[in-house]
Amino acid sequence: MITQATCQQLDQQDPLAPIREQFNLPPNVIYLDGNSLGAQPKAAIQRAQQVIEQEWGDKLIGSWNSAGWFDLPSRLGDLLAPLIGAKSSEVVLTDSTSINLFKTLAAGLKIQAEKHPQRKVIVTERINFPTDLYMIQGITEWLNQGYQLQLIDTTEELYTAINDDTALVLLTQVNYRTGELLDMQALTAHAHKHDVLTIWDLCHSAGAVPIDLNGCNADFAVGCTYKYLNGGPGAPAFIWIAERHQTAFTHPLSGWWGHNAPFAMQAEFTPTKTIRRALCGTQPIVSLALVEVGLSTFEQTNINAVRGKSLALTDLFIALVAQECGTHGLSLVTPTEHAKRGSHVSYMHPHAYPIIQALIKRGVIGDYREPQVARFGFTPLYTSYMDVWNAVQALKHILDNNDYEIHAPRNAVT
Ligand SMILES: *Cc1c(COP(=O)(O)O)cnc(C)c1O
Repeated sequence: MITQATCQQLDQQDPLAPIREQFNLPPNVIYLDGNSLGAQPKAAIQRAQQVIEQEWGDKLIGSWNSAGWFDLPSRLGDLLAPLIGAKSSEVVLTDSTSINLFKTLAAGLKIQAEKHPQRKVIVTERINFPTDLYMIQGITEWLNQGYQLQLIDTTEELYTAINDDTALVLLTQVNYRTGELLDMQALTAHAHKHDVLTIWDLCHSAGAVPIDLNGCNADFAVGCTYKYLNGGPGAPAFIWIAERHQTAFTHPLSGWWGHNAPFAMQAEFTPTKTIRRALCGTQPIVSLALVEVGLSTFEQTNINAVRGKSLALTDLFIALVAQECGTHGLSLVTPTEHAKRGSHVSYMHPHAYPIIQALIKRGVIGDYREPQVARFGFTPLYTSYMDVWNAVQALKHILDNNDYEIHAPRNAVT
């Protein structure tokens, strides 16, 4: 039997607990959606003010150099590197995840077209995040060279689907809906046995799960900074290219920021030899600057401590839902095995949508994903064990009283 006192005690013993104070969280809100939009570090307000008042307002164009604006994509890449097992020269922050997916798909297909021109298949999972599927569809239709998207339905099938006909495989490490964590090491090794290049989407794992891109010998990776990395709404994404691929990495978004000498203003495009060849044009500096604040929070701890607490929080949530709401027809979608679980927990329920609406009304913010999935994200930097207790009590109250029936059905909401 897990009690409220158990949860209070877990909070008292939690070495990460003091970090919560560094985030602005509204009173009376339990925020279980940091996997979708991370909470605001308090320091982001001062940083925004500094960028706007001093760097932009006072120093104007001089800030490209004096405030380090021009170097920001690579400097922040260096700050992110330890969280994803990258070297400092291998990752930049720029553009969105969708756009970075386009670049890695384009570069990967070009490398493979030279090496294995007969290979036309790009493998991914049917349940992958839609933009990943859409970007593959977009680039294959646009290239019009017979490339095909192959959608796989189970993780086991991936191992047979990735074979000598495959050009690229694009996988998301933690699935946005189920919370399943894929085995990056094993899948990358399997792909390489067949000379297949791997693109890893780390949107739902960066900042939540220890990632070792170089340890896994991965090829390319992309990911968001506005989820677990708390970079702010729409903050620029990251793109990682293994050092060994950097000279072969070319993509059609060959803007001047990827040029060898951007200020030489030459007529011909010559890509820089560095990771900055993944850049296209001028970056959204105000937004980019705030990512530094989110990343800096992680310097006070380490990703293994974050992962330890994440598993403890998700274990507790799963156990408490079983204990308190066991008879209400929630079916757990997320794997219980630690090695297969990210940092969010999902349940299917025929009334998942109105249940989430009822929870939000009571100050517990989770979210709904089609079809019939209620999703709860746990962010160890600011989620407490008592948050888990209180969230489950709210869920229990709603289910015990059929509280959700008063809420509009899904199709009544735009
Ligand atoms: C959130 C998410 C994205 C978002 O892509 P944007 O270009 O930032 O809109 C992409 N892929 C996955 C797996 C995600 O979870």
